[in-house]
Amino acid sequence: MRWLAPGGMIGGMSETDVVTVRGLRKSYGDRLVVDGLDLDVRRGEVVGLIGANGAGKTTTVECIQGLCRPDAGWMRVLGYDPVTQADQLRPLVGSQLQDSALPDRLRVAEAVKLLTTIPGRHGEDLIEQFGLGERRRSAFSSLSGGERQRLFLVLALINRPHLVILDELTQGLDPAARRNVWAAVRQLHEAGTTVLLVTHGLDEAEALCGRVVAMRDGRVLDSGPPAELIDRHARWATVRFTLAPEGPHSGRLLNELRWLDGVHQVDQVADRVVVHGDRRIIAHVGAALVRSGPVPGDLSVQIPNLEDALLGILDTRPDASGGAEPTEGQLRGAM
Ligand code: ATP
Repeated sequence: MRWLAPGGMIGGMSETDVVTVRGLRKSYGDRLVVDGLDLDVRRGEVVGLIGANGAGKTTTVECIQGLCRPDAGWMRVLGYDPVTQADQLRPLVGSQLQDSALPDRLRVAEAVKLLTTIPGRHGEDLIEQFGLGERRRSAFSSLSGGERQRLFLVLALINRPHLVILDELTQGLDPAARRNVWAAVRQLHEAGTTVLLVTHGLDEAEALCGRVVAMRDGRVLDSGPPAELIDRHARWATVRFTLAPEGPHSGRLLNELRWLDGVHQVDQVADRVVVHGDRRIIAHVGAALVRSGPVPGDLSVQIPNLEDALLGILDTRPDASGGAEPTEGQLRGAM
């Protein structure tokens, strides 16, 4: 029986809830892999699961699809219980799993035909859309890594799923193929499809996901839009420049920089200067350089990205204050 009724709420869920997971637990042997995980994905969202190796991301999406039986917890996916109603759920979910494979001799068009359950030309259109038209008659074993990934994406989308689950979608793809696949995910989002993405590509998560969920040891450490996570966990900035020979006295300038609002550290190696601090330093260092003489032509600013935020999240200790200051590792890496 489905839990959702059009226009209404049943069991505390609204019709915009696509995935609801509460207290999910899964162990392999004596190893607790998913440890009381809560997750919500709403209709039309692109949500990314990110985190360390072995964090339990794949196990979580396997449970959500009914491919793995949890030990405890409560799940509803598109209104169905993936454990007891996997048959009803299967046609509504399209998935591309980590380490997917097809029989070596199966041709592209045959695979698409075999797995199509809805009538019409949708499969053929997807083959063209994903640039596999010329490979229709090619055997799976002869496809390149990028062509295989695109075929798996076609197969995930073939039956017009309501929820698409993509696990390490672009692993091993060259930059151009990666960008093509990203464009395809954006198209899915624009068409209103809900996407749950597992990825180690944090540039990918930042580019595609409206919300990311950071996991470690089977638990959610934090979640939110990428920009919010960056703000919470990596609020530093780094400004670099080279001292001009005709510029101000370097000792005086460096001393002034050390006292600017938000500056945590100023390093100098030969004529190269690196200033670390919170984001206010971008304005203050710029103003100080304008005041002090010719502005260095190689002035550059580095602000953190989602990878820096994840490093901050994974480094979080119970007494951590929230990443306002760069960690020693960030300072070392920024020189
Ligand atoms: P990665 O980013 O490395 O792919 P992940 O976050 O997706 O990792 P999982 O693949 O869910 O993590 O694995 C979590 C832990 O569970 C790992 O230690 C893994 O070795 C273990 N594990 C996963 N599947 C099985 C299985 N079928 N049998 C035994 N252990 C498993």
